[in-house]
Amino acid sequence: MTVRTGRDILGIPGPTTIPDEVLGAMHRPAIQIYTGELVDYTTYIQDGLRDIFRTKGRTYIYAANGHGAWEAAVTNVLSRGDRVLVLESGRFAHNWGEMARTLGVEIETLEGTWRDAVDPAAVEARLKADTGGRIKAVLVVQIDTASGVVNDIPAIRAAIDAAGHDALFMVDTIASLACMPFEMDEWRIDVSVAASQKGLMTPPGLGFVAAGERAIAAHRTADLRTSYWDWTAREGELHYQKYCGTPPEHLLFGQRKAMEMIFEEGLEGVWNRHRLLAGATHAAVEVWAEGGVFEFNVIAPESRSQSITAVLVGGGQDVAALQRYCLEKCNVTVGGGIGDLKGKALRIAHMGYANAPMLLGMLSSIDMALKALKVPHGAGATQAAVDYLGENVSA
Ligand SMILES: *Cc1c(COP(=O)(O)O)cnc(C)c1O
Repeated sequence: MTVRTGRDILGIPGPTTIPDEVLGAMHRPAIQIYTGELVDYTTYIQDGLRDIFRTKGRTYIYAANGHGAWEAAVTNVLSRGDRVLVLESGRFAHNWGEMARTLGVEIETLEGTWRDAVDPAAVEARLKADTGGRIKAVLVVQIDTASGVVNDIPAIRAAIDAAGHDALFMVDTIASLACMPFEMDEWRIDVSVAASQKGLMTPPGLGFVAAGERAIAAHRTADLRTSYWDWTAREGELHYQKYCGTPPEHLLFGQRKAMEMIFEEGLEGVWNRHRLLAGATHAAVEVWAEGGVFEFNVIAPESRSQSITAVLVGGGQDVAALQRYCLEKCNVTVGGGIGDLKGKALRIAHMGYANAPMLLGMLSSIDMALKALKVPHGAGATQAAVDYLGENVSA
């Protein structure tokens, strides 16, 4: 017995649901890559990225996923033997740092838990202790998709300033761009990294990097540069040089359409929608938690992100069985824990192309699963989410 025939709901924190308009924009023959229409796509997306990152800096488009964008960021501004400070708050900054290590960069990690945001005071203390100025860059994620933590990027900026340190500030916004406020120039971020398949509502395969003036200056002497990622090579006159080869044109068709949708809604409107859907999710989790099995992974409410909520599942309950029920009975894919939270958590995404009925449908399906599998939980979680939205989305 199932109630699954109907639209599928993809509730994982990437890749996210792709709007039909984006899929439609991609459904067309290939075009030539040297002049004309495709050049306009490149210009539109590079400018659109500036508007979304909120920067006057340069933007680069790679045929790559987020890991590619990480490598692009590191290789363009660092040299072998440079030291970077990695701010841990889950899995992703750590993995970015590990990638840098394999490239020949020395890593120092400011260890964190998976349940708290990075502590800006600890960043300040660590940088103050670096009296020799060995640390060349600070690496952090805005939202860590594994833990559901959101880091306070302006507060970390202020900590770097308070330490009087001139390290480059490099921020991974892969799970936060077009999901919550991000102000690259105002927060004086030197390098920002993103990818197409999360808040940007496009299939995986495009990696984005934005570089400010200090990053461009560091780039001039960086010895990790390689021909594929190199910014200077990508500033070449010929269009295909911007991609170091054939542009991933169908992804560009899709990404432009997705950006048009974002600008039509308004970037602030997009951020606000995410804030509201996160609030509804948090309201539901609070009620479920009354049963003693579910618990927010992130302890401080202000450190819970706007794009993904990680929920610890205790009491010996089977996370996979909950996910299976949601998928097999309702056609809803709910994320599971990864890394340290593998088998121990659900990850509920409210990221990208998601509206209230999609989110409420997902929360209701989880509610159904809890009932069907007799997992102890507070009653009325879905109602709490509805009430939250009814109270916060004014007529
Ligand atoms: C998804 C994600 C990545 C990795 O992106 P891929 O496209 O899978 O390589 C990196 N950082 C964060 C914060 C992410 O959410």
